[in-house]
Amino acid sequence: MGNQYITKKEWARNIKLERIMITIENAKVLYGNNMDVLKANILVEEDKILEISSEVHEGQIIDASGCIVAPSLINSHLHIGDSVAKDAGDGEPIDKIVKPPNGIKHRILRETPSEVTVDSMKESMNYMLKTGTTTFVDFREGGLEGVKLLDEASKDIPIRKMVLGRHDSFMDPDAEAATIKRNARKILKSCDGIGLSGFGEITDENASTITKTCRKMGKLSSIHVAEYKKLQEDSLDLHGKTEVQRSVETGFDLLVHLTSPAGCDLETVGKNRVPVVLCPRSNGALSVGIPPVHEMLDNKINLLLGTDNVMFNSPNMFREMEYTLKVTRGYYKRYLSPVEVFKMATVNAARALGLNTGSIEEGRIADLMIVREISKNPFLSLINRTESGNMVGLMKDGKIVYRN
Ligand SMILES: [Zn+2]
Repeated sequence: MGNQYITKKEWARNIKLERIMITIENAKVLYGNNMDVLKANILVEEDKILEISSEVHEGQIIDASGCIVAPSLINSHLHIGDSVAKDAGDGEPIDKIVKPPNGIKHRILRETPSEVTVDSMKESMNYMLKTGTTTFVDFREGGLEGVKLLDEASKDIPIRKMVLGRHDSFMDPDAEAATIKRNARKILKSCDGIGLSGFGEITDENASTITKTCRKMGKLSSIHVAEYKKLQEDSLDLHGKTEVQRSVETGFDLLVHLTSPAGCDLETVGKNRVPVVLCPRSNGALSVGIPPVHEMLDNKINLLLGTDNVMFNSPNMFREMEYTLKVTRGYYKRYLSPVEVFKMATVNAARALGLNTGSIEEGRIADLMIVREISKNPFLSLINRTESGNMVGLMKDGKIVYRN
């Protein structure tokens, strides 16, 4: 029993050995909220970034010479459930494809066995890791069952998910506030918030009850708004207000699309500091327009990016960034900076979603990607040229979750 005690020094050394330390060396780092480009080493301890400097060299060493180290990507709006309906309904009007409860998408989902749905969701999550995404926000359909299905699909996949659920009763205009509240609370116990299909399907009263319940429980409320012009016109005809005005008045935390703002919509959203998720490839696929990105930035709106339905788009944020950059420049005939677009997929999203990720800085969670540098402009190297084959390593919570 003589060796029962260890010295204080040994104890300290053991503690240090037990901690997982990784230094990523010799990379071009996109540092901080402004994505300043600097040559440095990054020390990761456990799940956090501990130090960024030219000297640090501890623990396991990853040599990232010739690589860019950037925050990994956040896909802020996704319908992963329709991974089983890829490219179905092309050419049909938008409401025929995705409007609940009888759109083509919903019909396919109803007819697909749940094991098949689970497998195709797994495939989409693994694809996201391969293409640099470590966090996604899903608009979950199918009530509590739908939430459980995604939990099952994601249980062995090291990706961070934020699940925004819904309940059928939300769409019932005659439901009592108490019922809506009760069902919202039930759903919110097993997910991160509520995501609603739009004001075409929900009354302002039900919407208010839902956003209040979310706020009380510290959860996120989100809704599609102003995806196309007719929705805005119908809202004005029926309610004397745009969908955007109604979404701000009923208190949503996160708006999706805003492709067709009207009147003072952008000023209202900017003044109320409501973040907006743009899904330009989805808008393109459905022939509904191109979001006015410059005007949104002029109104100081915090912009995020999402790939929307897997039915229309691969959940690939590199593709989304490239489309966003070029279609906006082309259509509005005005320069848009690649850094602005890269921030939409990283730091802007983390801020809006309340995550301690999205930028490489001391104290942040180490969610980052090590990517082969293809051009001398690191932002365009990422946006224009990066494919999954250029992904050297992907780190989530300080652990390498994908490598090439
Ligand atoms: Zn959507």
